[in-house]
Amino acid sequence: MSTPEAISSKDFDLTHRDIAYFSMEIALSPQLPTYSGGLGMLAGDTLRSAADTSSPVVAISLVYHRGYFRQQLSDVGQQTETDVPWAPDRLPAGPSVSIHIQDRQIQLRSWRYDVIGTTGHIVPVFLLDSDVEGNDPWDRKLTDQLYGGDSYYRLCQEAILGLSGIALLQALGVKPEVYHMNEGHASLLTIGLLEERLQGRPLSEATDDDRAAVREKCVFTTHTPVPAGHDQFGLDQMNQVLGSDRSVAIEAAGGIHNGLLNMTYLALGLSRYVNGVAMQHGKVSQYMFPEYKVHAITNGIHAATWMAPSFQELFDAEIPEWRTDNFYFRSVYGIDPARISACHVKNKHRLFAWLARRTGHYFNPSVLTLGFARRVATYKRAGLLLHDPERLCALAEKIGGLQILYAGKAHPADNAGKALIRDVYAAAVKLNSESLKIYYIENYDWELGAMLTQGVDVWVNTPRRPYEASGTSGMKAAVNGVPSLSVLDGWWIEGCAENTTGWAIENGESEEIEANSLYHKLENSIAPLWANPNAWARIQQHCIGINGAFFNTQRMLGQYFENAYYPAGPSKFSLLPSEEESLSESALSQGNK
Ligand SMILES: *Cc1c(COP(=O)(O)O)cnc(C)c1O
Repeated sequence: MSTPEAISSKDFDLTHRDIAYFSMEIALSPQLPTYSGGLGMLAGDTLRSAADTSSPVVAISLVYHRGYFRQQLSDVGQQTETDVPWAPDRLPAGPSVSIHIQDRQIQLRSWRYDVIGTTGHIVPVFLLDSDVEGNDPWDRKLTDQLYGGDSYYRLCQEAILGLSGIALLQALGVKPEVYHMNEGHASLLTIGLLEERLQGRPLSEATDDDRAAVREKCVFTTHTPVPAGHDQFGLDQMNQVLGSDRSVAIEAAGGIHNGLLNMTYLALGLSRYVNGVAMQHGKVSQYMFPEYKVHAITNGIHAATWMAPSFQELFDAEIPEWRTDNFYFRSVYGIDPARISACHVKNKHRLFAWLARRTGHYFNPSVLTLGFARRVATYKRAGLLLHDPERLCALAEKIGGLQILYAGKAHPADNAGKALIRDVYAAAVKLNSESLKIYYIENYDWELGAMLTQGVDVWVNTPRRPYEASGTSGMKAAVNGVPSLSVLDGWWIEGCAENTTGWAIENGESEEIEANSLYHKLENSIAPLWANPNAWARIQQHCIGINGAFFNTQRMLGQYFENAYYPAGPSKFSLLPSEEESLSESALSQGNK
């Protein structure tokens, strides 16, 4: 059983928490199984940057007693799952609240996890917990499993996140100016806000003014570029779980779409600012929701979380300012590229030593090594790299050897995803040779994600366009001087400078064409460059200087403050000097003249 490591007993001020951030999953620490993949990582990295920049943020999520699962793979790659129970009661307790859903009361308690920034600022995260004595036995299990159960279970969880999240903030005496929904799972907070505003009057009495007042406080980030990916529930379920009064309010807000409760439409209807998570995703979302204005703020990663110790030491020595201001990564051009390569060599050795310990498999540090690790979803096309086995084998031999490291969990109910893992296993059995080594690593999680993005030579990503809203693992690679070879989708449209920060797999009408492009670049662009250490060191430098400096959550959060949270006029959180400051500065300098 894992226990939370960072327990703070520090008292802190909750009176000025202007931003409330709601997310179904948040990756808080490598020890806590409260996340499934990219959405939770993004939430965690966002809060870590909020803490670093002393931003007045408070966050809400659920506790998940059983944890998101540990993956076991049999010798043919068959996935099985086991729970990862943990001990939230080691955390300080937050307030308890009560909500009325499914025609009965549910008591929720809460646990507080403190995200602590570089200068000690705390962003408290409250994890809601329905396992309270006196609750209906079924209700006590509602905060057990992340993305578990059926749609009824899921709707109850979303009701807890949104409705008791608002109740919890009231109980804390926090009065946020902005409520940020990280994906549609959190949409019911809008109904919680409407209830708060009506103070016990029925929601059916809510007027356009009431809805406008809620809208004025809400910001919504959508993460899914396909309609099927958006949370939807039957109207009978909506009535059963939420009751008729709230159902009327949801309908009035535009939350019913094609005869279903649609969480994305509910959020769209009651948010004043809506955004996608990369420029392309903003466009795709705008096309999907033409009735609403959709902006874009490109995702990032929390640099200090993902950068290898070797690089952290180098930067602490050369550009220590990076810890509080990631723009300083641009100054990597003042560092000898050979020192950057040396850090990468260390990271590669570190990864291989770790793999040897954990799996008993040995990899050769002097062989070009590709990494492919992500949630196993069919659109991510783990198999594209293996599309033409003969060509891959010939290529590996020609370039002096190739190692490919795979990792990723399939959702327990995703049989197609599980089959993909078995396919990679089968390919490895068939193709592994002197010059080609394919290996699937069990149990992709935070730690493995970090080791891989730090230690491989090239990060590969092959989503089917336009399904990758953003993608963030390639950003983790970039800040570690690891270039990407990727389909031009999500963040890579913005991050790819060909032969500089990595390579684009050309868009094709078929998998055949895309696989061809992948092999062609590997053979003719990547391998020759990699064989030239000086040229490769330059590439590594560009990854950090160009992409590390931009694709981080510090820049991203700054953009949220500027564009989403406080768009009107100079805000108190402006990255640029406010008008008054610059005036007084110019007055000062004039006075000096
Ligand atoms: C970064 C990360 C992800 C998200 O990666 P994508 O490139 O967006 O797929 C998922 N899972 C883990 C464990 C991660 O570290």
